Amino acid sequence: MRVHKADLHLHTCLSPCGGYDVTPASVVGRAAELGLDIIAITDHNSAENVAPALEAARRLGAKAPLVLPGLEVTTAEEAHLLAIFGDLASALTMQAMVYGHLQGGPNNPDVFGQQIVANADDEVEEFNPRLLIGATDLPVQMVVRRIHGLGGLAVACHVDRPAYSLIGQLGMIPPELDLDAVEISWRCAPEKGRELLLGRELPLLTDSDAHALDDVGRVWNELNLESASFAELALAVQGQEGRGVAGLGRRE
Ligand SMILES: [Zn+2]
Ligand SMILES: [Zn+2]
Repeated sequence: MRVHKADLHLHTCLSPCGGYDVTPASVVGRAAELGLDIIAITDHNSAENVAPALEAARRLGAKAPLVLPGLEVTTAEEAHLLAIFGDLASALTMQAMVYGHLQGGPNNPDVFGQQIVANADDEVEEFNPRLLIGATDLPVQMVVRRIHGLGGLAVACHVDRPAYSLIGQLGMIPPELDLDAVEISWRCAPEKGRELLLGRELPLLTDSDAHALDDVGRVWNELNLESASFAELALAVQGQEGRGVAGLGRRE
């Protein structure tokens, strides 16, 4: 068992607010330089840049972090929820459901920029035509249930933030919600984050939520794991078999 560094909330050029240089391959490369063991690619309401990230990791070989497929889903309450999976097929099934419930119509590139689906060679494959920054009409309860139905982990995003978080939108983390973990933003001190849990027994994570390459790995989770795998991550958030969140790290 050793400490693995994990940054589980990373955007690419597919996200409306992600820079064009934040290609999936460059994110994986940056994470490898920083010595991150596990990353999750979590664009807004889409997993279309996960496959090129997986391909980039395959090409890097042993230096590459484990890349987990994910999405940052916007619920009907306009709260952000990370859906993290162990395999691409499950993430794409989640994506299909999210696409079916996205509100807001087509993207306006003049306002939100182009949403680039890239390949592992940093070339543009296509522009996603949907307004990915928009909300779905799926209540948070249903999103959590669907994530679990596909074997994924459901993490409440950046709960310290006044907008687009469960606490920001609903004033609380609904006690009946079967979350796997709660995330605080890179700005938030862990002690403050624990206060926000109001005594609930949920693991506290922190992620960079990077939309720019320089922000990848600005904070991370230190996880006690046997190896870098989704199954080990799941054990860690459940605090089972000696796995767990050992600490939250921050770049100086
Ligand atoms: Zn968010
Ligand atoms: Zn995000």
